[in-house]
Amino acid sequence: MTPQETKTPSESLALALGGIRAILMDADGTLTDGGIYLDDAGAEFKRYDVRDGFALSMWHRAGGKSAVITGRKGLALTHRMGELHIGAVEQGAADKVAALDRVTARLGVTRKECVFVGDDLPDLAVMRMVGVAVAVADSPREILAVAAITTSARGGHGAVRELIELILRAQGKWDGLVAKYASNTPTIIS
Ligand SMILES: [Mg+2]
Repeated sequence: MTPQETKTPSESLALALGGIRAILMDADGTLTDGGIYLDDAGAEFKRYDVRDGFALSMWHRAGGKSAVITGRKGLALTHRMGELHIGAVEQGAADKVAALDRVTARLGVTRKECVFVGDDLPDLAVMRMVGVAVAVADSPREILAVAAITTSARGGHGAVRELIELILRAQGKWDGLVAKYASNTPTIIS
């Protein structure tokens, strides 16, 4: 399967996706490929996928909410999350479950109304608590085992874009949004 192809979810999964109001994401290894580049002064550089960003703007336009829960901290993340208008950002979250509760309260959603997409063991507990757990393609087996959805794309290479299309299709919103871009309205910067 190529990243361009979209899986058809089962009936129960499609139903769950239909009720999703918030996309919660890990950062490193999920929104990035997991690489952390360091210069001589110790400054970090990371690579984000522009298509993930664009899909998030579509998701927000469709009325969806978003949050990032990450164990690390960094100004680059702060900048990128600001650009993407992420609704809640929890950095340095040693306890991701506590962060989940803060995020859901802030966004005004229930755990069941959330997907969480992650890539590694720090995400495991949160993935077990949300409505739909999602693993990026290159996740370890423990993460794949709890995921209701595994993206075809790897972290940092369009996994979030793929997930958003799946949710918006399940909610019957995808084609209408695409039609707006086809008619050149609106212009959204990712
Ligand atoms: Mg990660």
